[in-house]
Amino acid sequence: MSGSSKSGRRVSRAAQREALLAQAAKVEVEKSYDVVVIGGGAAGLVAAISAAEDDASVLVLERDLECGRSILATGNGRCNFSNVELDAEAYNDPEFVSAVFGGDALQDILGFFRDCNLRWGLEGARLYPMSRKAASVRNVLLARAEAAGVTLAPARSVTLVETAGEDADGRGGFEVTFDEVFGGEADSRTVEARCVVAASGGGALEALDGLGLESTTFSAALCPVACEADFLEELDGCRAHVRAQLSHGRFPCWSERGEVLFRSYGLSGIVTFNMSREVEEGDTVELDLAPDLGSSDLQQIVDPFGRGEFVPGCLDGVLDPKVAAVVEGMAEDSEELISLVKALPLRATGTCEEDSAQVTQGGLVNEQFDDGTLECSEVPGLFACGEVLDVDGACGGYNLSWAWKSGMVAGAAAARRAQKLVRAAR
Ligand SMILES: Cc1cc2nc3c(=O)[nH]c(=O)nc-3n(C[C@H](O)[C@H](O)[C@H](O)COP(=O)(O)OP(=O)(O)OC[C@H]3O[C@@H](n4cnc5c(N)ncnc54)[C@H](O)[C@@H]3O)c2cc1C
Repeated sequence: MSGSSKSGRRVSRAAQREALLAQAAKVEVEKSYDVVVIGGGAAGLVAAISAAEDDASVLVLERDLECGRSILATGNGRCNFSNVELDAEAYNDPEFVSAVFGGDALQDILGFFRDCNLRWGLEGARLYPMSRKAASVRNVLLARAEAAGVTLAPARSVTLVETAGEDADGRGGFEVTFDEVFGGEADSRTVEARCVVAASGGGALEALDGLGLESTTFSAALCPVACEADFLEELDGCRAHVRAQLSHGRFPCWSERGEVLFRSYGLSGIVTFNMSREVEEGDTVELDLAPDLGSSDLQQIVDPFGRGEFVPGCLDGVLDPKVAAVVEGMAEDSEELISLVKALPLRATGTCEEDSAQVTQGGLVNEQFDDGTLECSEVPGLFACGEVLDVDGACGGYNLSWAWKSGMVAGAAAARRAQKLVRAAR
């Protein structure tokens, strides 16, 4: 495998990796910082920028070879970075999210990115960078972090966070231990921090173990849904614009309109990702394959003279002909065909492809964190933002919006606390 270097030459993956490791090894990590951010993903970069622009000295410890890599995969490489209909109700914990969002989170997010010189465009309510390239979002964040004086230290995996000093109100700060992995064996090092911002997604919870925080198990969310239905193999790869409905037993519990992608193992696509937040094994999924047409419209198309029969291909002008052929093959008569078009049934067997999940449910229990500052009430000086908290939202830019806004709140509050500690020490 290979990629392009700046000079346009093709470089191998191995050479790229070597170059990144060499670059990471050159980063000098000092003995102590006002704020150490664990994880240089979406939330961590914004937290670091916010803290540094409020005059804190900031170190970002990132396990990966580069900061911001997680952003590159978002939105199929286009990064659906926010949503003009941003609403706390689209998250699992609306009360907490609403308090953290404060007055107008969307304007805060857009203001932040405007100041990064990012420009954007709309697709429905979804916001994408004007370039439609996730690298634009990642690069403007890296540039702004550098301009703000943040030390970005990739290839460093945090293994332990401990409180330091005897001070009852936590004034002693923290010791953060991390492995430097520049090839060969990892070297373990420790850095002092007045404040720590946990922004590691699911990646560094073990390192926080000693602090006695409460957390719930991480599980995949926003991922494909495994289903059983005889037609899945045949429709593998087909897309359809549907209204999907999920029912626990006989009771409908969720419905949404949009595109589904049929896969041999079940369903994928944005609508399915949202369904995955609700689905339980044994649920029934019904797909209305023609949500804009009522049964009488379909009757006109399928069997205009009410003979109870239909002609093969009669739905080719309405559905993807491959989907139409499958549904026609399942129906005995025109009435059954219309029923199947309006409610094609599948049995859900659970979520699947955990590795391809867009977000995780679970994490640090939100109640432990002040919703105005995202500081932990039991461990003063420890802040959290992004997916490490137990917050997940719908598809459509909601999860990155949470990462950005919670990063701003945690980063700015951590800088304020660090300054207070500096003043108190004088
Ligand atoms: C394929 C995909 C597509 C997505 N598309 C979208 C989209 O279009 N719109 C949207 O809103 N959301 C999208 N999401 C969700 C979004 O990417 C996440 O919600 C968001 O990145 C969470 O930000 P975060 O900073 O909390 O975590 P991350 O961005 O995952 O960052 C965490 C960082 O911490 C680092 N880390 C972990 N453990 C350690 C450790 N021990 N020491 C040091 N560093 C550590 C990780 O390497 C990582 O860089 C997508 C997710 C995926 C997987």
